[in-house]
Amino acid sequence: MIVRFWGVRGSSPTPLTPEDFRNKFTAIIQRVKPADLVNSETRQRFLSNLPPELFGTAGGNTACIEVRTADDTMIVLDTGTGLRELENRTRKFRENIREYHIFMSHFHYDHLLGLPYFGAMYNPRVKVTFYSPYPAMARILAKFMNTPYHPVGWDSFAADISFRVLKRNESLTLSGARIDWIRRNHPNGCFSYKVSEAGRSFIYSTDTELTEKDFQRTDKNVSYFQGADAIVLDAQYTLGEAIEKYNWGHSSYSLAVEFVREFGIRKLYLFHHDPLNTDADMEGILRSAQWFDSRLEHKGGNSLEIDLAREGHEFEL
Ligand SMILES: [Zn+2]
Ligand SMILES: [Zn+2]
Repeated sequence: MIVRFWGVRGSSPTPLTPEDFRNKFTAIIQRVKPADLVNSETRQRFLSNLPPELFGTAGGNTACIEVRTADDTMIVLDTGTGLRELENRTRKFRENIREYHIFMSHFHYDHLLGLPYFGAMYNPRVKVTFYSPYPAMARILAKFMNTPYHPVGWDSFAADISFRVLKRNESLTLSGARIDWIRRNHPNGCFSYKVSEAGRSFIYSTDTELTEKDFQRTDKNVSYFQGADAIVLDAQYTLGEAIEKYNWGHSSYSLAVEFVREFGIRKLYLFHHDPLNTDADMEGILRSAQWFDSRLEHKGGNSLEIDLAREGHEFEL
């Protein structure tokens, strides 16, 4: 499967401001030396040696992840503002996607805001299936897309839309990929999804406030999390913020690292970045998470890779 990140922020879209852009540009200009400008190779080397907080951004769109199975089935995890970038890519590569499988973690705005602007929803030749364990999903979604909050209502969607309510202790097969889900601790609830295919597994666990219960090695926790290849995990806060914002429904990066270690997961993507954090703040959080991990006594000694979820990043499992 291929996984692509299109929206990685939490809570609110966070575009780079003109000031952010000027600051990055100024810092880059201050670093450049005449030898860096000699030819295209030296210029390229200079750019690739810049710290990531200067040459790029983790991204400002809210939660949206694409998973493509081996036979190219399109699975979408949440419809935050990153959904526009997903659609931009399909246009850029002239992909004619006829069917979308959209799994909703929950219905907070940051996971929904891309939906009213998603062109596929207005195309009668496209089939869209929404999946969620919430029995009221169809009503919740129709209510969100309503006047006067949006100029046109749910009725204006022309796609062939259906809803699939997911049952407890069930799992689903979509063209050879298996989908499982588990409830997370978050105000109004939230669900994590796991996509497994050809012996590899990817877990999406946004909006999760980890508690002691999550660390218990129950059959359910072990069968869902143990040995997964990669996880996207809510790591919005520092430990101090997590204590201050107890019960707000998000986790600290340190707890995220401990959790991933507990279940022997191989790769951790820190996700649901706080809208108050600059790129420099987030790179600092990443370095702290890596440092924290290096201080832990490792169970089983698997190597753990940690990175920020970055908009536009893709990887294959
Ligand atoms: Zn959220
Ligand atoms: Zn939420």
